[in-house]
Amino acid sequence: MKTNVLQDTQRILNLIAKRDLDDDEKKQLIDETVENFNSYINPGFLKYRKSFSSDYVAVEWADNGSTFTCVKGIEYIDCLGGYGIYNVGHRHPKVLKAVTDQLQRQALHSQELLDPLRGYLAKILAELTPGNLKYAFFTNSGTESVEGALKMAMLATGRRTIVAAVGGFHGKSLGALSGTSKAVFRKAFIPSLLNMRHIPFNDLNALEQTLSCLQFTGDDAAAVLLEPILGEGGIIVPNDDYFPGVRRLCDKYGVLLIADEVQTGMGRTGKMFCIEHWDVEPDIICLGKAFGGGIMPAGAFIGSEKLWAPIFNNPFLHTTTFGGNPLACAAAIATINVLLEERLCERAKTMGDLFLNKLKLTIKPYTPHIVIDARGKGLMLALEFADTDIGFRISKGLFREKILVAGTLVNAKTIRIEPPLTITLEQINNVINALNKVLKEIASEMKPQLTNELMNKIIPLNIFQHTVLSRQL
Ligand SMILES: *Cc1c(COP(=O)(O)O)cnc(C)c1O
Repeated sequence: MKTNVLQDTQRILNLIAKRDLDDDEKKQLIDETVENFNSYINPGFLKYRKSFSSDYVAVEWADNGSTFTCVKGIEYIDCLGGYGIYNVGHRHPKVLKAVTDQLQRQALHSQELLDPLRGYLAKILAELTPGNLKYAFFTNSGTESVEGALKMAMLATGRRTIVAAVGGFHGKSLGALSGTSKAVFRKAFIPSLLNMRHIPFNDLNALEQTLSCLQFTGDDAAAVLLEPILGEGGIIVPNDDYFPGVRRLCDKYGVLLIADEVQTGMGRTGKMFCIEHWDVEPDIICLGKAFGGGIMPAGAFIGSEKLWAPIFNNPFLHTTTFGGNPLACAAAIATINVLLEERLCERAKTMGDLFLNKLKLTIKPYTPHIVIDARGKGLMLALEFADTDIGFRISKGLFREKILVAGTLVNAKTIRIEPPLTITLEQINNVINALNKVLKEIASEMKPQLTNELMNKIIPLNIFQHTVLSRQL
């Protein structure tokens, strides 16, 4: 063992216990964090994070409501929402109280005595979820929820093939990764992945053809695994007839429907579960992200009695040590309480509609040469840009304006806007003003380049469009 570990741990414990850091401590913390990321986590992150550049380094230290605060005390409006963790806001007092109350008494469970909170939470979920979903298994993450759901589907049907969508994201453990669609994440592991068929999203013909081919060849599908709205895939909202059609086809071919609501669930899109927009009852719902109220890592998958039957006799067929622990259950129960009491599903719809309208008005002068589209449902929103470079510049510009959005160099063509459902009108207006400012800057930087393109391409095609565009520039 290196000799300074004891000292180091004590120094960091003292830091954690501190309310306020002095200037030297702040500087040291920032420098050490950069160095630690560089030498002990992955230097690659420093290249991709817009919170790290030659101009500034933002090291997070605290969060509250709809904001993060960095070590230097600068407050950022959180429109990234941890990719959908913070539906009830950051450290909602009621969730925080439930978790600290529980922590004062007991943190984790014995693994042998019956733990009461797990039972209460399972019953609450049976009440809350659509249709005859009844039994719950608790996990520590969305990935684990998907993983477990896939195993349950295979056990219940005795089939092995899973159908998922191109553009879908379900996590990165080998089972969940099978459902995830991007080559960059899957390619190196393909021989170890499940039997998969990825089909275009929002295309019922493709689904019908695939299910019928699989039946013909004897590779029958166990389950269709879908996000109600593609999150990672760029906030793709399906047609209203898609999920009712998916349900019908699943029934026709005896296939289970797994709704991956890890990101869309817990009120994000204006209903407790997104699939309820289309009155569809899935066979399994996967939860994660916001399920733990932005305070505890927590996930779950919930299925019908028929699905659970294979594990009634052997509940040890699928287990986890930490899943469903008392702290996570306390957080989830408080989260559901807050979502209902503060009517946050309804709020996601009204604030989402308002936010989307403002986004659409803001981008209008910059469409389609800079911004292609603003879209979404509830407070699961996105802006799509003409190319990834513009997307990255916009998210970087917004960051400078103290607004955090989800856009990286890897997938910056679409940036996601997923603030806490508690976001205020004033904060939405701040975001819109900042977006306006950044768009204006980028348009003026791009003017020479655009004018050339317009001269070359647009004028011969459409004189009217050119006049409109140049006026807007
Ligand atoms: C984030 C996400 C997951 C994976 O959840 P983790 O908590 O990162 O394991 C799975 N499915 C969807 C739809 C997600 O958005």
